[in-house]
Amino acid sequence: MSSSTENAPLLGGGPTLARPKPTHNSKIRAIIYGVLTLIFVTGLVAVSVFWEELGGVVGGLPNDPEKAAQRILDIAPVIDGHIDLPILVRDLYRNNASAFDLEKEIPGHVDIPRLRKGQVGGFFWSAYVSCPNPDIEGKDYLNSTWRVRDTLEQIDISKLLIARYPDTFELALTSKHVKSAISRGKIASLIGIEGAHQLGNSIAVLRQMYDLGVRYVTLTHVCHNAFADSCGFAPGIIPRWEGLSPLGVSLIGEMNRLGMLIDLSHTSDDTARQALKLSKAPVIWSHSSARAVHDVPRNVPDDILELVGTGPDKTDAVVMVNFAPFFVATPGNATIQSVADHVDHIAKIAGKKHVGIGSDFDGIGDVPVGLEDVSKYPALIAELYTRGWTRFELAGLTGRNLLRILDGAERVAKELQELGTEPSYDYYDKRPDLARKKREL
Ligand SMILES: [Zn+2]
Repeated sequence: MSSSTENAPLLGGGPTLARPKPTHNSKIRAIIYGVLTLIFVTGLVAVSVFWEELGGVVGGLPNDPEKAAQRILDIAPVIDGHIDLPILVRDLYRNNASAFDLEKEIPGHVDIPRLRKGQVGGFFWSAYVSCPNPDIEGKDYLNSTWRVRDTLEQIDISKLLIARYPDTFELALTSKHVKSAISRGKIASLIGIEGAHQLGNSIAVLRQMYDLGVRYVTLTHVCHNAFADSCGFAPGIIPRWEGLSPLGVSLIGEMNRLGMLIDLSHTSDDTARQALKLSKAPVIWSHSSARAVHDVPRNVPDDILELVGTGPDKTDAVVMVNFAPFFVATPGNATIQSVADHVDHIAKIAGKKHVGIGSDFDGIGDVPVGLEDVSKYPALIAELYTRGWTRFELAGLTGRNLLRILDGAERVAKELQELGTEPSYDYYDKRPDLARKKREL
């Protein structure tokens, strides 16, 4: 095909060619230009009319802190590191998922209407069960305590609730999965275990917990265990291992190999320092605040915050701030501003890329003024916006910092597995069943 009618427009018309007459095509073009101009002008008018409504755009965000917070959360919703809904359901409803309706307001701080109002995109469901009575467990943590059974029950109720509300929740096992669930308007649901006492002294149990979907293990709760020392609740707890036990060192390696996040909330300072040094993967504090702002053992001291980061001798981590009034301020003084002070302080010492949100809702009795339940996260974002945090920094705080850590842990696990790293076969050497002499065959 090489007719002159096809070639002529490409040549643009030379002096020997007659000026083309207006054609059907050029009329259509004129109409399209006209319509586009109309749309452009209408757009300009609309922007000028709604400029005030947008709040006067500063860096693309409204000046009004509440509207700015809403816009930030639209693209970067909250991913909370620690929500205790499962233990509330155990205590109030004996883990019967049909005994209440999460679509309506229930006692405590968490239900679907309030999660939606709070612009929540994901959270870790804490499959927590309490520390055993030390008199029953024994000083070497060897007596039966039902903690592994109870943990399985808490994982079970978490999964039952996630499955019961499929329009809202979606079980998420990887950072990619979290992002995809959020992009489809779901609340990405991850599961964490709050204390290695829930592993029954066994690294094999850790592996099985991973297979069940658990993605973090807090190394201790308020009690020491066979793996590590806790910071307890009140100051002055006497250490058992001076940090990690030999089995705890093996546990860190196996968590890295699996891609199970190491959670340092509740641990002693020595445990935290040793774990930071040993871990090949980034770590988290799922629900801890800053000790320099309020001096309680559960908060992270500055000398440990200084070990967090991406420079030499630092470990990437995210410290997710706890809202529990007891950890936030002196009695009666916990407010949304004091929680923001903790966020600011952790950001000042460790960097804004290393702070997140781990409210502890449903695990705390009292709440700070202004942060009464999961519907109130936007107010915290608004408070920090007024303190000069940018949208990128706030998007990090609300969830992206945590996703970076999860990504990093997954990457390290992949590398270790590709290198052919063997699973850990280490066992607690005080166990009489495995430690006894090999059976003669
Ligand atoms: Zn806790």
